[in-house]
Amino acid sequence: MVVDKAERGLLFVMVGPGGAGKNTLMKVALAEMDDLFELVTTTTRDKRPGEIDGIDYHFLTKDQFLSMITNNQLVEYQEVTPGNFYGVPRASVEQALEAGRDIIADIEVLGARILKQSYPTDTVLVFVTVPGNSEADILSNLRERMEIREDTEDVILERLERARLLELPFQVECDHTIINEDRDTAATQLMEIIQQERVARQDATQVCS
Ligand code: 5GP
Repeated sequence: MVVDKAERGLLFVMVGPGGAGKNTLMKVALAEMDDLFELVTTTTRDKRPGEIDGIDYHFLTKDQFLSMITNNQLVEYQEVTPGNFYGVPRASVEQALEAGRDIIADIEVLGARILKQSYPTDTVLVFVTVPGNSEADILSNLRERMEIREDTEDVILERLERARLLELPFQVECDHTIINEDRDTAATQLMEIIQQERVARQDATQVCS
């Protein structure tokens, strides 16, 4: 069923360099807003302790994942870490948007770009980064956070390179930027963005109707 544009949900995509806190901010918003729902994506990586199938991810074998690709059931998919594939199930997104449910997901940049291209009027890209007056400054702040998390030096170097080449340049393509200096302030900012986008959608439909 195709519903009137006014009733469609919004897809909020959290994007930005690893270590900036996009997943944490998303979880705070989900805990605080009972009219916001997590878009559960698929992955072929192993389940980590405490993770639940269907809640954290739909955990799939490589064959199941391949079958979803073949049947055009993924809007996008990427090999996010070597050998581990992640993808957004088309049915989950479209059912939520058509039912007027607002959903949120933490997606890496290449996937985020495809989501925006696929659902241009429904997708809101929220870029999360750390404070800094220059690229070097931002990278140094990211390194500090990774060191606190006790990531290994190899992992840190790889993630910083990815941030420099791929993730930081993506900011200009995003609808909003949150500079995550303090978790609570940043989470409040995210919830304000969500409300603001809901109001903007309502206003746009009122003007059109
Ligand atoms: P993790 O393995 O730590 O749960 O997730 C690694 C990264 O995969 C996350 O930071 C998130 O941005 C990304 N990710 C999760 N689901 C998807 C997806 O469906 N598509 C893409 N492109 N990236 C995803």
